[in-house]
Amino acid sequence: LSPSDTVEAHRICVCVRKRPLNNKEVTKKEIDVVSIPGNGTMLLHEAKQKVDLTKYLDNQVFHFDYSFDESSTNDLVYRFTAKPLVQTIFDGGMATCFAYGQTGSGKTHTMGGDFSGKSQNSAKGIYAMAAQDVFALLKQRRYSSLDLCPYVTFFEIYNSMVFDLLNKKAKLRVLEDEKQQVQVVGLQEMYVSCAEDVIKMIEMGSACRTSGQTSANANSSRSHAILQVILRRRKQVHGKFSLVDLAGNERGIDVRSSDRQTLVETAEINRSLLALKECIRSLGMDSHHIPFRMSKLTQVLRDSFIGENSRTCMIAMVSPGMSSCDSTVNTLRYAARVKEL
Ligand code: ADP
Ligand code: MG
Repeated sequence: LSPSDTVEAHRICVCVRKRPLNNKEVTKKEIDVVSIPGNGTMLLHEAKQKVDLTKYLDNQVFHFDYSFDESSTNDLVYRFTAKPLVQTIFDGGMATCFAYGQTGSGKTHTMGGDFSGKSQNSAKGIYAMAAQDVFALLKQRRYSSLDLCPYVTFFEIYNSMVFDLLNKKAKLRVLEDEKQQVQVVGLQEMYVSCAEDVIKMIEMGSACRTSGQTSANANSSRSHAILQVILRRRKQVHGKFSLVDLAGNERGIDVRSSDRQTLVETAEINRSLLALKECIRSLGMDSHHIPFRMSKLTQVLRDSFIGENSRTCMIAMVSPGMSSCDSTVNTLRYAARVKEL
């Protein structure tokens, strides 16, 4: 199979990626409960107990377009997921790529990359690889005559509020006009002339994202970060690629011991992830009713859920350790459901 057999062939592509056990998990002698028995499958071995207290493993298998094991690189994941979508925006379409999963499962590693030197396969992320491919295609003769101009936006959604990561986290309003067009008022759209420009914006925005984490500006794992590469032709939008590092979907937040802010955040994250699932499903079913008003996240991505030429890819990340089992089941069920008819 080649990458073109995947996303190109259908509008929705759902993949899963398992990261390796990290040092902390290895030190704690955590068991790896996730395996990949074949291409596109993922098997979860959940430890359970019978009434007589004997322990056993409950195996659950899930099916996806692709499944990537712990030895897969960002480069490989990119080639099978976001890369085919770059073409979509040149063809005048809308593309979205989502990284979904619990905090610590590898969303930012996959999207933003990892240059800390801490991880073994220190690697460029999907953001940077997509930016490079955009500029490679812009140089091709069949596109250079179109006069396409590339721009970048980078913003964050936290508790239904939108913050501009390219403008000191300015709080922005989202407006919908009578034609249901959604606009993020005042969002900085930066012209970029090369892939390095995009990478600079990403670095700037990412630093902005993690700085000043006060009560009004939460921990970045509780917010959705959206990077958009927009191709404009004579000022009009020709195509748009949205790359989304979603908020952590962790399970097991203790309702009794959590503070009010955590509970509000969690409820809001759950609501937006539910809305996202419903919107992608309606795209897959060619439904005319897209419930994009269910959350701020889906509202700002409305453009991407409509139109003939919209394509979406979701990469669901899982942590392999036994202690993450509840979240992993949750992630795999969600991802399977996104495409299930
Ligand atoms: P998330 O954004 O989902 O919270 P991160 O991307 O920050 O998770 O990943 C958590 C840690 O695990 C980071 O230190 C990251 O370097 C490491 N990690 C994640 N995925 C991989 C991978 N595929 N290979 C190696 N290390 C990884
Ligand atoms: Mg992250």
